[in-house]
Amino acid sequence: MASTSASKPVVIPQDFNSQLYTPLKEADPEIADLISKETWRQFSGLELIASENLTSYAVNEANGSILTNKYSEGLPGARYYGGNEYIDQLERLAQRRALTAFHLDDKTWGVNVQPYSGSTANFATFTALIQPQDRIMGLGLPDGGHLTHGAYTPKRKISASSIYFQSLPYQVDVKTGLVDYDLLEKNANLFKPRILICGGSAYPRDWDYARLRKIADSQGAYLMMDMAHISGLVAAQVQNNPFEYCDVVCTTTHKTLRGPRAGLIFFRKDKESDMETRINNAVFPACQGGPHNNTIAGIAVALKQAAEPEFKKYAVAVIDNSRAIADALVKKGYKLQTDGTDNHLNLWDLRPLGLTGSKVEKVCDLASITLNKNAVVGDTSAATPGGVRVGTAAVTSRSMGTNEMVIIAEFLHRAVQISLKLQKEAGKKLVDFIRAATEGNGEAKQELEQLHKDVQAFATQWPLPGILDTSAIKRPDILANGVNGASH
Ligand code: PLP
Repeated sequence: MASTSASKPVVIPQDFNSQLYTPLKEADPEIADLISKETWRQFSGLELIASENLTSYAVNEANGSILTNKYSEGLPGARYYGGNEYIDQLERLAQRRALTAFHLDDKTWGVNVQPYSGSTANFATFTALIQPQDRIMGLGLPDGGHLTHGAYTPKRKISASSIYFQSLPYQVDVKTGLVDYDLLEKNANLFKPRILICGGSAYPRDWDYARLRKIADSQGAYLMMDMAHISGLVAAQVQNNPFEYCDVVCTTTHKTLRGPRAGLIFFRKDKESDMETRINNAVFPACQGGPHNNTIAGIAVALKQAAEPEFKKYAVAVIDNSRAIADALVKKGYKLQTDGTDNHLNLWDLRPLGLTGSKVEKVCDLASITLNKNAVVGDTSAATPGGVRVGTAAVTSRSMGTNEMVIIAEFLHRAVQISLKLQKEAGKKLVDFIRAATEGNGEAKQELEQLHKDVQAFATQWPLPGILDTSAIKRPDILANGVNGASH
């Protein structure tokens, strides 16, 4: 009789397949070294990029698992290949958990958990709902929208969403920085979109779904929410609920939701009888091939965690932290778009200081603070955004609270003051500014080196999700190879 457990291990082959059993450190020291350096970077720095987060140990385990080996084109119970009995269970579990995490009833809502990313989830949704060259309206890119919501410039259709569909952006009000719903309504009346898209990448306030629904209904349009940035906050019910009003809700899984890099598409099942089939067919075979089952396992783990009470506390803390940074910066006299935040991010308008986002981003980078330059309302040139975006999801995942946000705001203040000094020393041109920041020997350069030391000393006191023993994280010898251009 066959034993149920493999008591005697099968011998590892010494033939041409021996490489399949070699650990990464031996098999590929270059890649192992880069992972180790990146681990140090994440540990020793402050991650304030609003679209990033630090996922859990369990999610990383699932994501790095043997599930990556399996092909499973199709859906549970209807695959193109055999051997999917466990993958079917996995995908069904991920679907159930997605509905549970977002408090949805499976009679009204369905979900596709296969999108490789947020961009493909959005494109698959367009493919499912409308025809090529139909019209879509989303928040404009410089106003905080995402590329995939129809972005274009006068000379270039930047995104497949503007290449294959006609798009017209809506905007935020120049004075308040809030979505101008009145103007949106007027323009929707003229443009007559087939899909009205809400959600964005750099919008610090919540969405008026009831108003958006009304506008969509007036045109017989679908209402689609791309909640990529705020999906963790929606799951925790600390933002308005898009599911009350939308026909389709897309998301990435790796931002505030804190899963692996992928996407989800939720769709209303009770309005159009073929919606489920259209979405599923749009994901596969229209836009994608085989699902990434290791990622789907990671999503399932993240969704289980998102339904736990601790996750709600995390989401509340993300917003508290974001508001604490806002308060601290405003107290110092800085200008934030919309004067504050309701979510995980702040948009910091640097133009009153005579600085660009690029310069502050560079100085922060050299000080191990990672954030990104971002357009602020009224920017005339997309090439030189006038602000930076500051997010709190990742630092909250490192267990930092509002007191630490005050310290971080002080670091940011120092970075801005150093930027002003560097600009005074080097002039307005970015290349000269960078040279002064990296090669100069002025006072600002010295202050930047001190800031870098202080940030690293602070950041390395905090845990790094996914890493059980931070003492094993090695500081790379950056002096020897000058990898990151920093001098210490
Ligand atoms: N949608 C929004 C609102 C986003 O902010 C992003 C990414 O930043 C995406 C979609 C695209 O996601 P991905 O990078 O996974 O394709």
